[in-house]
Order: sequence, then C-alpha cells, then structure tokens
Amino acid sequence: MPTITSVSGFPRIGQHRELKKAIENYWKGTTPLEEMRKVAAELRASHWQAQKDAGITLIPSNDFSYYDQVLDTAILLGAIPQRYSALGFESPEETLFAMARGYQDERGDVTALPMKKWFTTNYHYLVPEVDPGTPFRLSSTKPFDEFTEALTQGIATKPVLIGPYTFFKLATDASNEPLVPTPELVGSLIATYVEIVRKFVTLGATWLQFDEPYLVLDKNDDDIAFFTSLYEPILNAREDGAKILLNTYFGHIADVYEAVQALGFDAVGLDLVEGKEENLAVVEKNGVNPHTTLCAGVVNGRNIWRNNYADTLETLTRLRKHTENIAVNTACSLLHVPYTTADETDLAAEVTQHFAFAVEKLGELRDIAVLADPHTPEAEKEAILAQNVSLFAGNRVERDAQLAQRIADLTDANYVRTPARDERAVAQRAALCLPILPTTTIGSFPQTQEVRVARARFRRGEMSESDYHTFIAEQIISCLRAQENTGLDVLVHGEFERNDMVEYFGQHLNGFKFTKNAWVQSYGTRCVKPPIVWSDVSRAEPMTVEWSAFAQSNTDHPVKGMLTGPVTILNWSWPREDMSNEEQTTQLALAIRDEVLDLEATGIRVIQIDEAALREKLPLRKSDWHTKYLDWAIPAFRLVHSGVKPTTQIHTHMCYSEFNDIIRDIDAMDADVISFEASRGELVVLDAIEDAHFQTQVGPGVYDIHSPRIPTQVEIEGRIKEILAKIDVHQVWINPDCGLKTRGNAETWPSLEHVVAATRSLRKSV
Ligand code: GLN
Ligand code: ZN
Repeated sequence: MPTITSVSGFPRIGQHRELKKAIENYWKGTTPLEEMRKVAAELRASHWQAQKDAGITLIPSNDFSYYDQVLDTAILLGAIPQRYSALGFESPEETLFAMARGYQDERGDVTALPMKKWFTTNYHYLVPEVDPGTPFRLSSTKPFDEFTEALTQGIATKPVLIGPYTFFKLATDASNEPLVPTPELVGSLIATYVEIVRKFVTLGATWLQFDEPYLVLDKNDDDIAFFTSLYEPILNAREDGAKILLNTYFGHIADVYEAVQALGFDAVGLDLVEGKEENLAVVEKNGVNPHTTLCAGVVNGRNIWRNNYADTLETLTRLRKHTENIAVNTACSLLHVPYTTADETDLAAEVTQHFAFAVEKLGELRDIAVLADPHTPEAEKEAILAQNVSLFAGNRVERDAQLAQRIADLTDANYVRTPARDERAVAQRAALCLPILPTTTIGSFPQTQEVRVARARFRRGEMSESDYHTFIAEQIISCLRAQENTGLDVLVHGEFERNDMVEYFGQHLNGFKFTKNAWVQSYGTRCVKPPIVWSDVSRAEPMTVEWSAFAQSNTDHPVKGMLTGPVTILNWSWPREDMSNEEQTTQLALAIRDEVLDLEATGIRVIQIDEAALREKLPLRKSDWHTKYLDWAIPAFRLVHSGVKPTTQIHTHMCYSEFNDIIRDIDAMDADVISFEASRGELVVLDAIEDAHFQTQVGPGVYDIHSPRIPTQVEIEGRIKEILAKIDVHQVWINPDCGLKTRGNAETWPSLEHVVAATRSLRKSV
C-alpha cells in the first residue's frame, strides 16, 4: 500500500482572497447571502479538488470557515450566548457574524466575543463563551453538510473538528473565567461529540480528525485524566465505522504520550517540526501502539521554505524503527501559509523555487510519501531527491562576512546601557523638561483615504517623488500643529509614510523579499502579507531619520523617533530556517541600533522602539520561556538601545497588557518608558506592576483605540485615578492604547483633547 498522506487543514480564504471579498461585500450589502454562499462552496470545491489532484489520501473537510473554526465549533456545540440568539436572525451566518464582530442595528446592540491569538501563531480565534448552566447539544449541521458536499463531488473527505479537550480549555464562562468541568457540562460535551461521531459513521466517513493542540502545553496528572475521560467514550462511539485521528501541533506531547497510546487512537498526528526532538524521543522511549498509525507531521505548516527531503527521510527512518504504520502529514494546518508561489511572478524562479506555499506543500507530501514507500523504484526516488538536494546544496545566498564579524565582536557591554535607569531618569527630566504625567501618543495618526491614495499613487509611479515628499511633509506639519494645539507634551510625526510597521522597515533593510499575493488569514477576513527574510539582514540606509528630523525641526516639543523592534520584525516576517531566530534577531537588532544612533545624532531626544509582538512568541511551555526565547529576545532589545546617551529617552510599546507573568523580563528590557494596551480595565497588570516594584516608567493606555467611540474627560480621569492608585505618579505617562492609524480624525482629536484635559485636571490635585 502506498504511504498515506494527510493534510491537517487547507487555507480557505482563496487563492485571490475570494472569500474575503465575498464576505466583506456581503457585510457592505453589495453581495446577497446566496452569492456569498456560492463563492464559499466554489472555494471548498476547488480546494478539495486541488488536494485530490495532488494525490492526497486524507483530504480535510470542515476546515472551511466564514470566520473562525473555534467559533464554528462553539456554534456546533450550541454555545451561543443568549444575547446573540436573541437577535433572532434566520440565517446562521448572521448569528455567526454577530458573535464574531458584534452587531449594532435595529435588532439590538451586542459586542463581539473576545478574540485571542491561536497559540503562537498570528491567527486569532474567538473565545467561546459557555453558560455553565446550559448543557452542550448538537446545534449545527455544518460538518455533515460539508462532508456530504464533498462526497457529491466524488471526494470522501476526512472531517476535521476541534477536539473536546482543546475546546473546553479555550472556552470561558461569561465573566471570562475558565470553565469548571462539572459532570453536567462534561457529560453533555461527551454526548455531543459521541453523537457527531455516530452521525459521521452513518454518513460513511472513514476517517475523522480531532485537533487537540492544547495537548502540547504543560500537562499534569489531572489534565491527563480529564483528557482520557473525554476520549474513552468518544473512541467507543466509532464502533467499526470511522477511524479517529488525534491531531496535535505547535509542539510535542511528551507529557501525555503514554495516555494517548493507551487510548488506542487509529492515528496520532505528531508535530515533527516544532517539538520534533521531544516527540521523537517519546516515541523512541514508549514505542507505538500496534493499532495506531503515526501521522508524521514533517511538512511545516508555519513557514514557507522548501522541505529538506533528506532530513525528513531521516526522521521517518527513526520512526520506522518503532512502527511500520506511518503516514505523512502536515505539521499543522496549512491555514498559516499563503496559497501558491505560482502567483509571485515578480520574484525570480531562482528565488521562488526555495518556497513552498500550501499548494507546493501538497506536492511535498506526495514526494515524501513516494520516497518513503519501499516499493518505489530507486530511479524515481533518485530523481526526486536530486532535485531537492540541489536546493540545499551549498549556500543559498552569499553570507555577509562583515556582519558576521560585527556579531562575533559583540561583548556583554554591548547589551548593557549605562548609567542605571534611575540616574538616567534624572538626566532626562532635566533635559526634556516635561510636566508630571506627561502626555503622548503611540506613533501613528489616522491614515485617511487621502494618505493611502497618495502612498499607492507614489508606489505605482503616478505621483512624482517630489510631490509625494511635499504631501508627506504637509501631513506631518499639520499633525504636529494639531498635537500642539491639543496640548500634548511629547509629539510624534504620525507615520504617514508607512504602510505597515514591519513591511516599511523590511523595505529599507538588506535581506528581505516581498510577495504580491502571499496572504495569510490573521482573523476573520483580515489577512497579512509577511515579508520574507531571504539573506543576512543589515541596514541599507537610514530608514526614518529624514522624516523624524524634519518633524523635530518644526516644533519645540520633543518628537519621538518611531521604530519597530527586532523581535517584532522577525515575528511578523517569514524567518529563515537555516539560521536560528536568535541570530536573525541579533542581525535585526544591529540594524535598528544603527538607526537609533543616527536618530540621536540628528537631535531626536526620545526614541520609541515598538515590540508589539514580543509576548506573542512566548513558548507554549513555561519551562521553555527563558531558555528558548526570553534569554535572547530581551537582550536583543537592549542591544538596540544600549549605545545612546543618558539623556536620550528610550520608549517601547506593547499591544497587549498580558505580560504580568513576564513583568520582570519587561523591566529587564531596560527601556525608560513602556506604553501598553490597558483600557479595558485590565487591573491585573497594574497589580503586577505594583507588586513587582516595576522600575520602567509606564503609560497604560487610557482609552481604547479599536472603537470609534469618543471617551469623556470624566471617564479618562477615572481611568487615570485607577492607575495612580497602583503606580507612583512620577512613574506614569498618559497615552491612548495603541497607534491611531485605523481611526478617523473626527474621533481622534476630541478624544485626545479629553485626555489632555483629564491629565491637566489631575495634575492639579497631585
Ligand atoms: N507605532 C505604531 C503605531 O502607532 C505601533 C503600532 C502597534 O504597536 N501595533 O501604529
Ligand atoms: Zn499597540
């Protein structure tokens, strides 16, 4: 029998983002519901067909979603909070969109479910809200409909479901607390999954996939017992019908491997990209249940580089010592990679040949299956291997020897800024002459239609360089005047020249490649197009100095230089796989360091280095936090700013306030000031700041910039008082939550006026 190939999940947004467009047009009212459904069905059909044509054995269904697969699961299990069902929509899509995006119209006014990052990816899921008093019950036919739909097309798919364990762990009750596994709730959860399995058996499904990524987190005995108690009855329900594949990804399952083996799944998917060594070690130690097929997750679903077949075959050989039942799998869903390299016609073939997006990864699965099959004729194997070897032979790109030397020459002193923060604070206070509770913003100001059009016209060559220059200069000046009139203390230039906080820097650095169509779903219909780290990274030219210096020369207030930090640039790009993330981050840190020093040399006295994505890549297991990440990510930040004078004030910004558990590491970044998102009343982090005797000055956001709502002065005063109850007034800065680029001018300026008025009124009383 040829080796089985399995795909955990396929991108659903469409090769040309057809689904995004259809859904957004439906929201706008320009596409009727039926048309949106038709586009969705066509995309499902073409995605199944692409996988069939590539010869994939286990093709997923139910990996489609109008918004998010976790939300779909919540709806499937009947976890629809009453405020959404009360809207009384007839079509299930309308209820789904209300849960995903909120709803404000004649039927009512409800906010959306909270959104969170899906493990360590840049994909966001909606957090299911479960009423502990309402048992789960099967409430949608979506997975069954899609299975039947594919069957009509002649394709017997493998339905994919978020498993009960992961679902339960991700869900919360209405007050955001983790769910308590009461007998009623757990009993109904099991019963619903059992019903799902039985239904699929009746429909003739031969394989079902249960995704349990939550298994890769730290596990104790109680977790394992809970997991086992969920799956025993579910496995019994398959009887002699469907087989069940337990799929895990984003790390290893060493803690639960024995329990998983004992349960006797028909197949177990192991991530052999992330957590590869640990997963291999646990297989080598405990062996494999003779009944179980190992789905070897060898094709990376989270990066875009070609698979190295020789390495992969070595991994398979190690597994084969313990079992003959091996299938070849993607390491996780292909949702996290773009559709196809075929659309990247602006890149040379010598470049794109090194990339495998979703479609190319299907070919890789096939190739690996052929290579792994003992019956494949040697000549065929050699042809496949030879082609692949040529991609990895020798250096893909010439290395930058000067840069390597610069890194080798770094000493501990390069990672330490002197003098100590307290002493710097005194010098900075004298140099900057700021009032107590200084006010500032996070960097960007509204990117109006006018700004976006000008940038696009300039990019397309429809606007001359000098006209574009004049345009940006005018934007900056008027933004500075408006900030002065509003009464802000530390100003920004507004970031009008930047499309994106990572791409902009990538374009000014040596070593990056950019794609045209390589979109990846981030949440709902929102997609991102990360740049690719192609070779060693260094600064090609000053990147921000001109506009920052221009802004500073046009006002007496200090203007903050605005940079993106090395960890965030790497986290929001496709990193290289032939080099460690640590090394790539160090290269980026040196490039940004040069920029920091150039900004300082032109007279910029305050420099903000955004690390919006620092928390996002924290390893899933606590024991890995320092050794695998923080021990180099935090020093990389220090390397960026350690060369500045004591009087130069370094700021940083983080988008989420969820860093109370790494608060000391944040302090160890040794910035002078940090601003972060905190307007939704996250008091936990304020407590943590107080408890940890946090040393960095802090600007917890005083209003939410994700909403067009204008906060009142009274509200902001209340918020500042909350902050001052926990943090010393001399340590506090006043600022909004995040950058204002997605906002309009209409709400931005009144909001900032209220911020300044609130601050001024409180300054009097402290
Ligand atoms: N300086 C950036 C801005 O204001 C920061 C954005 C972010 O952290 N996401 O847009
Ligand atoms: Zn932010």
